[in-house]
Amino acid sequence: CGIIGYIGPRQALPLVLEGLGRMEYRGYDSAGVAILDETGELHTAKKAGALVNLERLIDSGEVALAGSVGIGHTRWATHGGPTDRNAHPHTDRPGRVAVIHNGIIENFPVLRRELEAAGVEMTSDTDTEVVAHLLGEAFDRGPTAGDLPASMAAVCRRLEGAFTLVATHADVPDLLVAARRNSPLVIGQGDGEMFVASDVAAFISHTDQAVELGQDQLVVITPDGYEVTSFTGGDPDFRPFTVDWDL
Ligand code: GLU
Repeated sequence: CGIIGYIGPRQALPLVLEGLGRMEYRGYDSAGVAILDETGELHTAKKAGALVNLERLIDSGEVALAGSVGIGHTRWATHGGPTDRNAHPHTDRPGRVAVIHNGIIENFPVLRRELEAAGVEMTSDTDTEVVAHLLGEAFDRGPTAGDLPASMAAVCRRLEGAFTLVATHADVPDLLVAARRNSPLVIGQGDGEMFVASDVAAFISHTDQAVELGQDQLVVITPDGYEVTSFTGGDPDFRPFTVDWDL
């Protein structure tokens, strides 16, 4: 029930974990992160239960999570039990793209059947996993090949329901892409670094400069800025504001 993404000069992991901690009040049953390292490899760690379980897993040193691009998720299970394998992020099979999602993809059974018919093997019981496979495929071939924002827009147009989505792709280490429908998404604009989150609480200790996204919007963030477009073809819809919040 919380989403955060970071891109900038700092190590992403502590910022992502801090953000997840600040959204704990919303309730959740599992947590996970994905970090893109300097060599272009994507690493994920995820765990059912409290955030401390994930932190213990990370502290055990089993997964290397160094890198300055990261996404983090706390899950409130709607489809599939609160288990390690159903925790987000979800990845495509080559493990090149990682996706986090809050909300419900209503038409996931159709999409799942289509993917399975094409030979894709699912590794979770979630509605979310279809998004990772569809995004990986859209990036690998067809009209949106090699273009992560265009791939994300194409996938979002196929989704029904409610979603805040953030994705990172190992082949595109210089940006994060996020999108929303019927579920909240805000940008946090720092000095040479950027955040996306479902809640300003996630980044409030680092910046009070925020941008609220309208319905059916997609945003690309880089360390230096952001670009909003509508994935359904309308005008960009966003509203910059200053968070009025004493910590
Ligand atoms: N529907 C997704 C799942 O069950 C996301 C739930 C959430 O909002 O955290 O995995």
